[in-house]
Amino acid sequence: MIDLVNVSFDYENGTTALKDVNLKINSGEFAFVVGSSGAGKSSMLKLLLRETIATTGKVIVNGYNLTNLKNKEIPKFRRSIGVVFQDFRLIPSMTVFDNIAFSLRVTDASVRFIRNRVPYVLDLMGLADKARRYPNEISGGEQQRVALARALVNDPTLIIADEPTGNVDPELAYEIVELLKEINSCGPTVLMVTHEHDLVRQFGGRTINIENGTIAFDGYIGGTDES
Ligand code: ADP
Repeated sequence: MIDLVNVSFDYENGTTALKDVNLKINSGEFAFVVGSSGAGKSSMLKLLLRETIATTGKVIVNGYNLTNLKNKEIPKFRRSIGVVFQDFRLIPSMTVFDNIAFSLRVTDASVRFIRNRVPYVLDLMGLADKARRYPNEISGGEQQRVALARALVNDPTLIIADEPTGNVDPELAYEIVELLKEINSCGPTVLMVTHEHDLVRQFGGRTINIENGTIAFDGYIGGTDES
């Protein structure tokens, strides 16, 4: 669950990126975040991931009040979120399996758990036969599916996808959103930032439009697609 209450955020140089934002996203929702460049989308994601702290207002994510979150609680908080980036951010020197296992190893997961969990999430993303490949040996769409598998591996309650379709072909972009929808139907809340209005129109659903640091629109739009 995400709850922003009267949140403003100013950068050190005085630029106001967010102004008095109120936003509530319930557990299990799927929401698109749209808005032109410079609107404040990335600044909002940084607040949600506790990379920055609101200048004023309250930010609550997955039950953690990020305004007064203790440093020692940050790793546990971050593990409750899976993040997917536009540029995949896979480690080139590691196999697909190890890219995903890495996220579990840092949590001290047992070898036995890793051996079961990694193939499970790879299978969910349709990548069962790619475990031994390196990122440069698979396509862009597959790399993004590996990134989705990695985002899922710690069983997060929230998935934040920051322009996840920005580097893949249109058909694959569609597939990535379908996978995010599927993930969402299994429980996690999904927040997807995108500038691809066609995709949003196709899928429909809750759409939050940020402009000039404020929420210009927050509502449901009908999709043109059955799924
Ligand atoms: P978006 O992600 O929607 O493109 P941003 O959140 O990056 O928008 O930017 C919101 C506003 O904050 C813009 O005016 C941008 O120029 C400004 N901004 C972004 N990053 C910084 C920074 N590190 N320092 C100062 N201003 C910034």
